[in-house]
Amino acid sequence: MERKKIVILGAGYGGLRALKELQDAHPNADIVMINKDPYHWEMTALHEVAAGTNEPENICYPIDSVVDSKQTLFIQDTVTGIDRENKKVMLKQKDPVSFDYLLIALGFETELLGIEGMEKYGLTISDISSVERIRTQIDQILAEWKKSHKEEPHTLVVGGAGFTSIEFLGELTERLQSEIKNNQLPKNKVKIICIDPSPDEMPAFDRSQSRYAVSKLEEQGVTFLTGRIKKVESNAVHYENNGEVKMIETDTFIWGGGIRGSSVIKNSGFKEKHSRVLVQPDLTVEGEPNILIIGDCSAVPDPNGGIYPATAQIALQQGDCAAYNLKALVDGRPLKKFVYHYRGTVCSLGHKDAIATVMGKKLKGFPASLMKKVVDYRSIWKIGGVRALMRLWK
Ligand code: FAD
Repeated sequence: MERKKIVILGAGYGGLRALKELQDAHPNADIVMINKDPYHWEMTALHEVAAGTNEPENICYPIDSVVDSKQTLFIQDTVTGIDRENKKVMLKQKDPVSFDYLLIALGFETELLGIEGMEKYGLTISDISSVERIRTQIDQILAEWKKSHKEEPHTLVVGGAGFTSIEFLGELTERLQSEIKNNQLPKNKVKIICIDPSPDEMPAFDRSQSRYAVSKLEEQGVTFLTGRIKKVESNAVHYENNGEVKMIETDTFIWGGGIRGSSVIKNSGFKEKHSRVLVQPDLTVEGEPNILIIGDCSAVPDPNGGIYPATAQIALQQGDCAAYNLKALVDGRPLKKFVYHYRGTVCSLGHKDAIATVMGKKLKGFPASLMKKVVDYRSIWKIGGVRALMRLWK
């Protein structure tokens, strides 16, 4: 009988965790992992590179370090689509790759919400190259700040006050404070504005925790405005508040207004909403038992009739379940249902402050920031093992 082939798309939290578990289970099948970059990056630390408080090499490790070449072939390429009828994955550069079983873990893309100018002028925190662009812009602002004698401050605007934006603002304000201190710079030369329809309502946190995060950032000089971004230009952002459209001049606009699943999902004809597929309890696609979808491309119903938020935590747990189910498919055994164990949420506010909900307890300040480190190191260890942990230890 011909040996079966399992293909995994995406070496992020879900895909790489599934690969590791699958390799440990030694399925009677060949495995192929496809990812656009040769390295895995810690998405949950991407905002630190954007703000310039961490370096890209400190949050990345090579995919090869997880790949067991006796079982798995790694292909570095960009997936452009999936031909489900002919069981083939289409790639940007190389020939199509056939599969018997497919795991899709291609992660998220930034939700642009159809806002005029967003794609062209909005900077995003979505991958290494996107955060390097933000970093370059911030470095330029700082360089001008150090040499300029101009009175008017440079204005930087962040759209959206969700998890990613708040974590980014925490890092950014921390960096600016240390630049002011270390270089004896005049204060108030950079104005930071964050615009959101409800600036102090963060999903996964109660009002008092969200309020704590906002007030801490306000103390560091961030101004929160209530409004909806309507248009972005090269030198301005327009937002609506109470029916009135207002304009702020800026050439640095960072968009953290939401995410959607990979466009590969939509382009491949899956039944989807925001490029996320409502998966079956065993993580397969309805009517296609040979295809599983996990992470930000999947939508998993929660007990309250909604869907769970897209997080690394759920992607990792789905990765474990997907590995089990892929091996079960090869062996012809029944699949198991995915059960999500919510372990808590931590949102950092720089390196020494955070808000957290962990095991039903609400934490703020330094204890919460320690939890962030624990969660980050645990996920590195669970995928990359000791080697990755030693490499990224900081
Ligand atoms: P990802 O981890 O995004 O991996 C997708 C992989 O697919 C990547 O390697 C990518 O390069 C690759 N890929 C994408 N498209 C293609 C293509 N077309 N072809 C080939 N390869 C492709 N979650 C938490 O639980 N806790 C946190 O504290 C937290 N903090 C966050 C902070 C930030 C700044 C951000 C942006 C997100 C944060 N998240 C957090 C959310 C979390 O990072 C995501 O939910 C998680 O990464 C999703 O995992 P995934 O496996 O679906 O995809």
